[in-house]
Amino acid sequence: MKIHNFSAGPGILPQEVLKQAADACINFDNLNLSLLEISHRSKNYEATIAEARQIVKELFEVGDEYEVFYLGGGASLQFAMVPYNLLRESGTAAYVNTGVWASKAIKEAKLIGNTSVIASSEDKKFSYIPKGYIIPTDADYLHITSNNTIYGTQIKEFPKCPIPLVCDMSSDIFSRTVNAKDFSLIYAGAQKNMGPAGSTMVMVKKDILGKTGRKMLSMLDYQVHIKGGSMYNTPPVFPIYVSLLTLRWLKKNGGIKWIEKINRQKADALYNEIDRNSMFVGTAAKEDRSDMNVCFLLNKPELEVDFDKLWKDAGISGIRGHRDVGGYRASLYNALPIESVNVLVETMQAFEKKFGS
Ligand SMILES: *Cc1c(COP(=O)(O)O)cnc(C)c1O
Repeated sequence: MKIHNFSAGPGILPQEVLKQAADACINFDNLNLSLLEISHRSKNYEATIAEARQIVKELFEVGDEYEVFYLGGGASLQFAMVPYNLLRESGTAAYVNTGVWASKAIKEAKLIGNTSVIASSEDKKFSYIPKGYIIPTDADYLHITSNNTIYGTQIKEFPKCPIPLVCDMSSDIFSRTVNAKDFSLIYAGAQKNMGPAGSTMVMVKKDILGKTGRKMLSMLDYQVHIKGGSMYNTPPVFPIYVSLLTLRWLKKNGGIKWIEKINRQKADALYNEIDRNSMFVGTAAKEDRSDMNVCFLLNKPELEVDFDKLWKDAGISGIRGHRDVGGYRASLYNALPIESVNVLVETMQAFEKKFGS
């Protein structure tokens, strides 16, 4: 039976990528060696890293003023590395709090230096994106989260920012067109929309680095990783390779313009059904609804067992909401085909037909 994988993360990857990844575990680049048993300094792996760094710059349409590298430690390590590398000892960092991940980023920044939360949507359980806040021009940077994976909210219009703009794009990277040059630093844990768990992509504008006055630990210093060509130490070789395969898949099919259109169709189909169907209600403010993570509740929670049986029987997997929020969350990452969304929509219609009044 075909499974429709709506997992929030680690999320769905293209089938062809999984097959290529499996092949590389046995025979990488026709070397008759596994990717897992060769030197990261071998010619073939150096080409992998170089291409993985290059495609990110191509997809974001940025030049040599930016550097791309891959680190372990998840997006969560970036919560600490961002302030460690950008927040001056006498400076202040500005943050927008839009949920659990943003809060965790704020927590780390506070341990490193002065941190100011300039806007928050905590008053309404993070169900919307704060707007119209004043960005302090003397702060070292502003940190935002483009897509709030847990609450299903997404920034549709990024703030005009007079200071370096730093963005956690873990759950919507390469899902839509953004003007990457408006950002000084973008990071993303790969496992939502770009690859498997175990590597985090960082893209940074070089001219914002080296200004903190702090003595830097090597492994936490962006400049060390840049100088090492994303191989200061042994990088997470396999996760980076599978991220490269996913980036190649995206590029080959037409890049962000191609996937953006499909993602739009998927999100529209599901939100239209949530709004039409008498059995469901969306949880995020309409204008801030995420195209990646669609969160909704049953109007009659007592029918949960019945709905759960229907979607499980339809081969749907991974739509249970985050443990902090409850309800349902369908993640529509790049690799999810529209056919899977159609199956979910049909299941919701069948549910209404059977249990609606
Ligand atoms: C999942 C997620 C994180 C945490 O990622 P890890 O790689 O597990 O550290 C951070 N930010 C966002 C937006 C996420 O969705």
